[in-house]
Amino acid sequence: MPLSFHNTLTRQLEEFSPSGPIRMYTCGPTVYNYAHIGNFRAYLFEDLLQRHLEVRGHTVDRVMNLTDVDDKTIRGANAQKLPLAQYTQHYKEAFFTDCATLRLRPAMAYPAATDPENIAAMIAMIKTLMERGHAYQAEDHSVYFRISSFSNYGKLAHVDLEAQRSCVRIKNDEYAKEEVADFALWKAWDEEDGAVGWESPWGQGRPGWHIECSAMARRLLGDQLDIHCGGVDNIFPHHEAEIAQCECVTGKTFARLWMHCAHLMVDGNKMSKSAGNFYTLRSLLERGWSGREIRYVLMNVHYRIPLNFTLEGLEAARQSLHRLDEWLRRLQEYTADCKIIAPLLEQLGILQLSSFFEALDQDLNISAALAVVFDTIRESNRLLDRAELTLEQAQGLLAWWGKVNEVLALEPEPLAEILPREVSDLLALRQQARAEKNWQESDRLRDQIAELGWSVKDTKNEQKVVKRCF
Ligand SMILES: [Zn+2]
Repeated sequence: MPLSFHNTLTRQLEEFSPSGPIRMYTCGPTVYNYAHIGNFRAYLFEDLLQRHLEVRGHTVDRVMNLTDVDDKTIRGANAQKLPLAQYTQHYKEAFFTDCATLRLRPAMAYPAATDPENIAAMIAMIKTLMERGHAYQAEDHSVYFRISSFSNYGKLAHVDLEAQRSCVRIKNDEYAKEEVADFALWKAWDEEDGAVGWESPWGQGRPGWHIECSAMARRLLGDQLDIHCGGVDNIFPHHEAEIAQCECVTGKTFARLWMHCAHLMVDGNKMSKSAGNFYTLRSLLERGWSGREIRYVLMNVHYRIPLNFTLEGLEAARQSLHRLDEWLRRLQEYTADCKIIAPLLEQLGILQLSSFFEALDQDLNISAALAVVFDTIRESNRLLDRAELTLEQAQGLLAWWGKVNEVLALEPEPLAEILPREVSDLLALRQQARAEKNWQESDRLRDQIAELGWSVKDTKNEQKVVKRCF
C-alpha cells in the first residue's frame, strides 16, 4: 500500500512516493522560554512521521530551526540583563533535555538563526529579492517583502489577498510599508535591540522570522523540500511567507508536501497563562507524570484533529501503558528460557500484525494503529490465559513489538531511572527482612511500598517491583 498524506496546499490526501532521501523541514521553537505541551504536540507528530518513514525504509534528512533572535528573546534577555546568546542558551539546552524526555528522535541539524553562516545566507537571499524587485527598504530603514510582486501569495492558506488588501489599505498611512501585509525581511536596529544586531547592506539590524526558515532550509536541504511541517498556526503568514521568499529567489516549488498539526486545547479551552491552564512539559513532570505518559497523550490523537488535553487523559494513558507493560512482562517471562528464533511475522497467523504499519501509511492514522496494538494485547493475553499461545507466537509478538516500538517509542522506562530512592531503600530493607525470614516485617514493608505507588512480587531469587496502576 502506498504512503499517502494530507497536503495543506491542495487540501487533499496525496500519494507520497519519494525517491532518495526525504528532505524534511520542521519549524522549531523560539528559545525565549520553556516549550509548552502545545509546541510538543507538533514536535511529536513530526517525530511519528519521521519514525514511520524510516521504518518504511526511507532515509529522512530532517532539519529543525531554533529561533534565537526575535522580539521575545530580546525582551527576555533585556529583562534579565543578560547577553542574548547567554539567555537563549539556557532555553536551547532545556529544549534538548525536554526532547529527550519525550523520546523525540534527533533531527539531522538544529540550525540557530544567529549562527554567522545562517545570517549570511539570509542577507544573501534578501539581496536577491531586492535585485528582483520583490523587496524594498522603507523609510523606517527596514526591508520588506513586496507581496504584490508574488501572485501565488496566499496559495497555501487559501486566503483571498485582494479582499484582504482592500480592507486594510485604509489604515496604511500609519505604516512605512507599501502595504500592510508586506512583512519584514530585515528589521532596522532600534534602541530596544541594545547590543543585538548585524551589519548588512541596509544598515545595522536583524532578520525577520520568516526569512530565517527560508534561508536555513535552503542552506541545509537545498531549494526544494519533500515535506515541510509545522503547527496550523504556522500556515499564515509564516509558511506563506517562506514560500514567497524561496520561490521568488529560486523559481522552483519550495515544498511538495505541507503537513500541519492541529491545535492543542486544555479542558476544552485554549491554553493560556492567564486562564491558568498552561502546561509546560516540566510542570507536568513535577506533578509526577513521566515523559513516556506525556508522549502517549500527545501522540494518540490523529495529528489533524484538535487534541483536548486533560489530566484524566494522562490517567488513561498511564493505564494503557500499564496494560502494555504487563503484556510485555508476561511474554518475556513465558519466553524466558526459550531458544526458538522468532518466526517471520507473516507465519504467526494469529493477527493481522502488518495493519499497524498500514494504518500509519494512511496519513498517520495513529488511532487505528494503536487499536491494532491493544487488540493484539487483548487477543494474545486471552491465548496466554488458556495456554494456547505457542512459544513461536510469543516470540513473534515480541519481535513485532520491537518493530512497532521503533515508531511508538513507548518501551517501559528503565526501572533504575524511575524508581524513587525511598522505594529502593525500602526494597533493600525488605530483602534483608526476607533473608532473616521475618515475614511480618516483609509484609509491612510491602504495604509501605504499595502506599508509595509500587507493588512488589516475589520470585524465587528476587523481588520484582512494578509501578501500580490506580
Ligand atoms: Zn519556520
